[in-house]
Amino acid sequence: MAKRPKTIQCPECGGTAALETRTDVVEYKGHKAPVRVAGHWCPKCGEAVFEGDALEKRERAFLELRAKVEGVLSPRHVATIRERLKLSQRRAGELLGGGPRAFQKYESGGQQVSVPMANLLRLLEKDPRRIGEISQGTAASRKARPGASAGAIQGSRVVVRRTTAARLRSSRRRGR
Ligand SMILES: [Zn+2]
Repeated sequence: MAKRPKTIQCPECGGTAALETRTDVVEYKGHKAPVRVAGHWCPKCGEAVFEGDALEKRERAFLELRAKVEGVLSPRHVATIRERLKLSQRRAGELLGGGPRAFQKYESGGQQVSVPMANLLRLLEKDPRRIGEISQGTAASRKARPGASAGAIQGSRVVVRRTTAARLRSSRRRGR
């Protein structure tokens, strides 16, 4: 983390704001959650200035609160479930939908998880072994239409093509 000055001039009132770790409060639709963050707090007007890690920590706290209030999965919860399923972010997006960057967005809070995706993830959280059924289903459908899948993955990264090819080979071997 970049070194921050002990005091700065308050952008609101010009007073002297000192760097301190305090409990701040994030709010969403009238609900509140506390979060400990370092920032420059102005004693004169009450303004606080956050940057870098502190801003991110505050943002995460806000996303957790919003998810709780809205009854959807929070970014951290999505990551926990995905890790239990032993999937990379890329693989999770390919298998469960949304595309290779979907889980990166869900887990950073850049995109909220849809209700159908949240439902699917909650079911898989209860019984992670069932991810195997989805894996096999995907391999089988690619095996049935090798030409179509080769076209569909054009333009994606080499890693994806290799993974697909390896899976195709292993499913063919099993089939014979
Ligand atoms: Zn001030």
